[in-house]
Amino acid sequence: MATVTRPVIPPRMPPREDLNPFHIAQLQFDMAAELLKLENGVRQILRVPRRILEVSLPVEMDNGQTKIFTGYRVQHNVARGPAKGGIRYHPNVSLDEVKALAAWMTWKTAAVNIPFGGGKGGVICDPKRMSKGEIERMTRRYAYEILPIIGPESDIPAPDVYTDAQTMAWIMDTYSIMVGHSVPGVVTGKPISLGGSEGRNEATSRGVVVIAEEACKQKKIPLRNASVAIQGFGNVGGIACRLFAERKAKIVAISDSRGGAYNARGIDPLRAQRYKDRTGTVVGMPGTSRITNDDLLTLKCDILVPSALENVITLANADQIKARIIVEAANGPTTPHADEILHRKGTYLVPDILANAGGVTVSYFEWVQNQQGYSWTESDVNAKLEAVMRRAFAEVAGSAQKHRTHLRHGAYALAVGRVAEATATRGLFP
Ligand code: GLU
Repeated sequence: MATVTRPVIPPRMPPREDLNPFHIAQLQFDMAAELLKLENGVRQILRVPRRILEVSLPVEMDNGQTKIFTGYRVQHNVARGPAKGGIRYHPNVSLDEVKALAAWMTWKTAAVNIPFGGGKGGVICDPKRMSKGEIERMTRRYAYEILPIIGPESDIPAPDVYTDAQTMAWIMDTYSIMVGHSVPGVVTGKPISLGGSEGRNEATSRGVVVIAEEACKQKKIPLRNASVAIQGFGNVGGIACRLFAERKAKIVAISDSRGGAYNARGIDPLRAQRYKDRTGTVVGMPGTSRITNDDLLTLKCDILVPSALENVITLANADQIKARIIVEAANGPTTPHADEILHRKGTYLVPDILANAGGVTVSYFEWVQNQQGYSWTESDVNAKLEAVMRRAFAEVAGSAQKHRTHLRHGAYALAVGRVAEATATRGLFP
């Protein structure tokens, strides 16, 4: 496959970098729309979310006081199927962030060609400072408040930052009680005992590693012994660390919200996980030196895997990035301005809407199993996931080549093209 030669997008890039995630999502979309010469009506539809719900959640805290939390559920597009996307609990959640994340889900499900649209939810809260009981009460009230717009045929939540299988179990239970019967397909990422899928917990990371393998083939870098730096040690980064190590890659740096740990000779992922479970952080792990998250991003390494939050690779540090390949396990880690700098430098970046789509792909498998009342084996799930990821990589690379651009624009052109076609074919109501 030919490597990318020139950026042909007429990037009407704003002169100054704007870190509002929704403005970034719109800019990414606009560039794809331009590339596809998309008809203006469809362009106007796809630039904005279809539906936004804001809810206030009164929750009784452990001290007896009532606290009000603000939550959102945004459905960006449902032309290709029900809205699909996670729920995030984080102090920095904002409506614009949820709108961006919902749009990215639309493009992600289309990039890997699964029959879903895009949605996202979030609650402004700090789950690290809440008890399990407080989180459960908040989750159940949130589920109740968004109940009118979610459902297995309309909008299917899943885990995202600081939510997990237990959170999904509470949402499934609340929804099921309200409608009077068990509805496992209303959420994905559930515990296996409630209809969760084998392989779902690892799926995002497994997809990331498959995509890293494909990227390595393109760049002719053997994954074996390749040096890997992973930012974030949550559900995605922590498991990716183990899966990279299983493929004999060398994990040189890991981090979490408190900082990072570095060892040029390699970090053992199982020891790192045990240390994190015991101390709450990877910082200070024996045999590693302490680094910051900023240091980690600019380390000399073969593969950089941002697996935390948005806007970590920006105009401020893009020209200092030394990784040869970036695989975006997080949503929105790189800004459009940084994209152009990395592209000019020859950094091979695989965008989030492809690289981290393994999670939603196995969410789709989970939903299919729930709708059929049937369950697949883990090896079946993993084989199907791998097939979807490898095919999507080839299609995105083909699209980038066709449009003579980098993989982000290639992925957007492919995804936006699919959603635009579905939207235009369905036509307008009324
Ligand atoms: N939160 C994950 C994502 O951003 C998973 C979404 C899902 O499985 O629906 O892709």
